[in-house]
This record gives sequence, C-alpha cells and structure tokens, in this order.
Amino acid sequence: MYALEVHNLTVTYHNTPVLWGVSFEVPKGAMVGILGPNGAGKSTLLKTILGFIKPVSGTIRCFGKTIEQLKKHIAYVPQKESVDWTFPATVWDVVMMGRYGKRKLYEPLRLEDKKAVIEALKKVDMLLLKHRHISALSGGQQQRVFLARALAQDPILFLLDEPFAGIDMASEENIITLLKQLKNEGKTIIVVHHNLLTAPQYFDYLLFLNSRRIAWGPTKEVFTEENIQKTYGGRLPTLSKISTILKTTGQPPVE
Ligand code: ADP
Repeated sequence: MYALEVHNLTVTYHNTPVLWGVSFEVPKGAMVGILGPNGAGKSTLLKTILGFIKPVSGTIRCFGKTIEQLKKHIAYVPQKESVDWTFPATVWDVVMMGRYGKRKLYEPLRLEDKKAVIEALKKVDMLLLKHRHISALSGGQQQRVFLARALAQDPILFLLDEPFAGIDMASEENIITLLKQLKNEGKTIIVVHHNLLTAPQYFDYLLFLNSRRIAWGPTKEVFTEENIQKTYGGRLPTLSKISTILKTTGQPPVE
C-alpha cells in the first residue's frame, strides 16, 4: 500500500487549470522533493492533498484512506510568507497547537502533551526560546518552530512548503537532519523545494511539476538535464551549474 496515491488530479482557480491530470504514488518512508518554477502549482498540490482545495477531478488516497479519514495524521508546514507573524502567540503556544488534533474540544491538554511539546522543541533546538513571541524570531527559528508543531502532532505524513526558503545554513542543516531521522523512523515526507543544487542530496524521489507531471521517480533516474529543461524551460540561472555537475560526475551529486 502507498503512503500517498494521487490519481489524475486536476485543479482549477476560476476555471483556469493549475494542475492537469497529475498522478504519482509515494511509497511509505520516502523523502520526496517537488520541483518546478514559480506558479507551477506546487503549493496548490500540497493544499489539495490536505483537503484545503477541492479538485475538479481525480482522487487522493493516504495509506488507502481518504484525507478526511486521515487528516489528523498529516502534518503541514506552510510557507513562511503565508503565516501571520503578528498573531499573539509564543513559541510554546504554536507548538502546543500540534497537540489539539489529538484532543476533543474542551478536553484539557495532558501531561503527555506537554512532554511531546518539550521533546519537539528540543529536537529543533528551540526549547530555550519557548516563551518568546513568534514575531521576535529569525526566519530559520520561525521555520523550526513550525516544524516542531508538526513533530508534536506525531503524524505519519509530513507536507512542507519551501521549508528552506530564506533561512540560515544552521537552521537548514538542523531541519534536513531531522527530516532524514524521521524518514529513517519510517515517516513519509513531501517537501516543496526550490534549490536544484541541494535537491539530489536531500530527496530520494523527485516530482518535476509544471502544471502537468513532467517527471516522477527515484532521484537517480529522474534528476536529468532533460527533465530540468522540460520543467523550467531553460529559464533557470543555476541550470549551467547543474549541467556541469551532471557532466563531471555523470550523475546527480549524492552524499
Ligand atoms: P507554486 O507553488 O508552484 O509557485 P501555486 O500553486 O502557488 O504555484 O500557484 C499556481 C498558480 O495558481 C499560479 O498561477 C497562481 O497565481 C495561481 N493561484 C494560486 N493560488 C490562487 C488563488 N487562491 N486564486 C487564484 N489563483 C491562484
């Protein structure tokens, strides 16, 4: 059984198609990168998987179930830009939100919830700043807090939208190390990613997307100059660097 099965998905905004007949199947424990230019429909794909957007056609199954049945077990880390950082909340409050899905309305949080929050904050190295307001954090710290919220939820599937955009190297290393640990624990992780240079090191499967599925499969098979060209149409400044890497090594730069 697949962790995620997306079949023939078509999504429109005001009758304009943004995703066209997209299909792919993600095995359990995979770490997937979604690559594509701005406006390719990457965020829309995540939001549709989460059930925030209703597709015109197509089906989505998570471990054989509908998203409605499994949504408590799917964690989402939104794009940093889409979060209101002036919202009156501390680091602790945000991470505690990850526990609400486990409780019924008005049911008090338990000691185990507090423990899970502390554990999650430790993993992203943010426990010392637990009382700080979220607006008073660096971009990397903000991203780590949202990852801690996802960890506190203890999901089976993680969906992250550009978690490495605009953050410092130390935060990027902290996050990728954590994601790799989660993968080793059997969690399935899907990440919208913008950096083609790090993509082959970070992910074992890649989805090249530009409204349609351009390519999908194990990184070693699909990270090719041809697929990159087809997806970005040669508009990418780093393209020559990528092709140099491919020419000198004959394959993507893996660890
Ligand atoms: P990506 O994440 O790959 O940059 P998006 O999924 O954000 O792409 O957007 C895909 C296309 O859909 C873009 O052309 C964008 O302008 C459009 N779009 C995104 N959200 C909306 C919306 N809420 N209403 C109308 N159009 C939208």
